[in-house]
Amino acid sequence: MSDDCIFCAIVDGEIPGEIVYEDEDVLAFLDANPLARGHTLVIPKAHHETVSDLPGDLGAAIGRVASDLAPAIESAVDADGSTVAFNNGEAAGQEVPHVHCHVVPRFESDGHGPIHALFGSRPDLDDEEIASVGDAIRDAQ
Ligand code: 5GP
Ligand code: ZN
Repeated sequence: MSDDCIFCAIVDGEIPGEIVYEDEDVLAFLDANPLARGHTLVIPKAHHETVSDLPGDLGAAIGRVASDLAPAIESAVDADGSTVAFNNGEAAGQEVPHVHCHVVPRFESDGHGPIHALFGSRPDLDDEEIASVGDAIRDAQ
């Protein structure tokens, strides 16, 4: 629990949330300012800021709940699919510093495009540069 965290306050029932799933470790509730009808946030009950801060199996538990909820959310609002994503860290646009997975219902005609549409241009990497990035990531684990 973090004192000034809005999502911890929802976990504790101090502020209301439209809760759609709850277990011992994970809570899911509707986004207060939704990008689409049914926009849901899946969070750990414990306060952790980013996905890399999640201990043990908590990341897997959040992934499991998001996977199970996505079809229920899609069905509830008659969506054709969903975008399931984390804004991970301030640089990625995360505004609430308590890890949350967005499940945003998507519709064939919504025109919003894929996550790729966030990025205007792509870096031009040759095979050697891609291999070197692969090396760096393997070395960093
Ligand atoms: P972020 O930009 O951090 O990935 O997303 C934060 C999300 O939390 C936003 O979509 C925002 O609408 C939602 N949000 C912020 N404050 C509240 C709140 O008090 N209650 C609920 N249910 N959602 C909130
Ligand atoms: Zn919190």
